[in-house]
Amino acid sequence: MITPPRARRLIDSHCAPLGRTAVSLSSALGYVLAQDVRTAMPLPRFDNSAMDGFALRSSASRRATPDRPVCLSIVQSIFAGDNRAHTIGKGEACRIMTGAPLPRGVDAVIPKERAHVEGSTLVVRQAVEKHRHVRRRGDEIGRNEVVLRRGQYIHPGVIACLASVGKKTVRVVRKPVVSVISTGDEAVEPGTKLGAGQIYDSNSYMVSAMLEQMAMPQARCRRIKDHYTALANAVGAALDKSDVLIVLGGVSVGDRDYLRRVLKKLRVREVFWRVRQKPGKPIYFGVKGRRLVFGLPGNPASAFTCFYLYVYPALQLLAGKRKDHLAGSVLPIEDPVEPDAERWLMLKGKTRKRPRAGVDKLPRQGSHMVTSLAETDRILVIPPDGARIERGRGVETLRLPHAEEIP
Ligand code: AMP
Ligand code: MG
Repeated sequence: MITPPRARRLIDSHCAPLGRTAVSLSSALGYVLAQDVRTAMPLPRFDNSAMDGFALRSSASRRATPDRPVCLSIVQSIFAGDNRAHTIGKGEACRIMTGAPLPRGVDAVIPKERAHVEGSTLVVRQAVEKHRHVRRRGDEIGRNEVVLRRGQYIHPGVIACLASVGKKTVRVVRKPVVSVISTGDEAVEPGTKLGAGQIYDSNSYMVSAMLEQMAMPQARCRRIKDHYTALANAVGAALDKSDVLIVLGGVSVGDRDYLRRVLKKLRVREVFWRVRQKPGKPIYFGVKGRRLVFGLPGNPASAFTCFYLYVYPALQLLAGKRKDHLAGSVLPIEDPVEPDAERWLMLKGKTRKRPRAGVDKLPRQGSHMVTSLAETDRILVIPPDGARIERGRGVETLRLPHAEEIP
């Protein structure tokens, strides 16, 4: 049986970024740029005022002092968006608003708060240097320069850059289309009446929500009985329309765990089955061409843990992200932990802020348990066969995507 780090390396080796697609500016958030973006014009595109105030010729103010001020007559008001070609003559000044194009003949601005105005005269009491409070054409970036590089993750600040250079569509790395199939004769739709031996299907809703949180496009999520042909049909259909297929349950050694047989029949190549970890040991990973198949064990805590350890980074890599995994950090643990003799423990943990920064191992770690899933914001990774980890010692942790959102 392979170790979790080996499983990660095997998965990573099949996760080259997908092809490109074009998206509009309004739907580009969360993608990764697949092109360098160049400026079609310099930024700013024209000299403009940085302040609401008065524009003047700096040379006219050169000899101005409080005792011998220079008086200029205010001849115009120029607003942002003004498209007329104004010229301000000698002995003149104009009112000007932030962002308004600087008219010909002037080269500096006195902010309104510091200007002395008498009637329609601007009284200048000290010299103003050239280009004072003026945003010069091209002073941020020139024309035809790279403003954003390929591989850049598109967050709101990137959207601002794209819009500023007039980009309406951009080429990005395509996101994987993901299908989810949940198996189990016992699992039924939440809200319906439960029969004897039945439970509510939590996994399909959980995994759909994880995908939604990652803004991954989802094909239909299906619930299938533990029946070979039904599973084979569902898996075959889902494979045809997905980049990634996630099958929940039916991947262990039970008499009705048909998934591996079905996948073999459908010519999906098994890369690994079973990883030396707890929970989540029976995880399966296979490939068919560039398509990836994950079989996650049906116990909710196993499916949860395996998704974040393996599926999450795979989807990020396919979507072109370089930062491909959950942020890791070593944090002191509040209570001692006993490592397992053989398996890596993947424990549900919770960040602690007081009385000192650290991490708690949550109670209710059983793989069939769900209540700790609502509380956890970190997975604690405890390698096997070590000495007992004493209180206050550092343990490796992975931060879950929702960690920011819960106190
Ligand atoms: P399996 O991996 O199919 O052997 O299932 C392992 C355990 O997970 C069993 O106790 C199942 O009842 C439970 N389980 C399987 N599928 C689901 C599901 N969709 N929602 C909640 N529990 C499930
Ligand atoms: Mg099952």
